[in-house]
Amino acid sequence: MSAEHVRLFFGLPCPDRAAREVIAWGLREQLKGRLIPAENLHITLAFLGEIPQARLNELLQIGESLHSSCFEITLDRFECWAHGLICLLPTHKPVALEYLAKEMAERLTQSGYKIDTRRYKAHLTIARKSPSRPKQAPSISWTVDRFVLYMSKNDGGRSLYLKLKEWPMTSNGP
Ligand code: ATP
Ligand code: MG
Repeated sequence: MSAEHVRLFFGLPCPDRAAREVIAWGLREQLKGRLIPAENLHITLAFLGEIPQARLNELLQIGESLHSSCFEITLDRFECWAHGLICLLPTHKPVALEYLAKEMAERLTQSGYKIDTRRYKAHLTIARKSPSRPKQAPSISWTVDRFVLYMSKNDGGRSLYLKLKEWPMTSNGP
């Protein structure tokens, strides 16, 4: 990555309480491999990749233009993917999440970003290179009330996600 490029993605942060539950589940299931630290747990909305810094303002404007209501998400099943990746997913995909991801992909595509609009699958990665599979799924819920534009950096082999900007979602009332 050149100095003028930044690695970016839009995502949903996993709040502290839910992150603690995710970590506790990983411990209960004795997951090994590269466990994702609590502060990095998130659900990706759209991965942008290496983007010239000069386009940052445009991405901030796209973030600003997107609107969503708050919604509940419950991660109640897991999947094991290639390279020992273990992730948690919702059985019931929140309509507002599907809608936000679709709108975001469309806006980004219109602006010339290469986003896979066909197969969005909301998931929270908990481990990579895991030598074993979990046995029992958890049930971890939270209210999604914001989305974030992250910068992803590699710091001596560790991923660091910096929050560049977060946008609140509209509350559904009392
Ligand atoms: P590393 O690649 O060094 O292991 P990372 O995967 O944590 O670190 P990034 O590669 O910057 O960091 O990815 C940031 C987020 O975007 C992660 O949730 C990752 O799963 C997701 N992501 C990365 N590449 C893609 C891709 N090609 N398509 C969809 N999502 C992606
Ligand atoms: Mg990666």
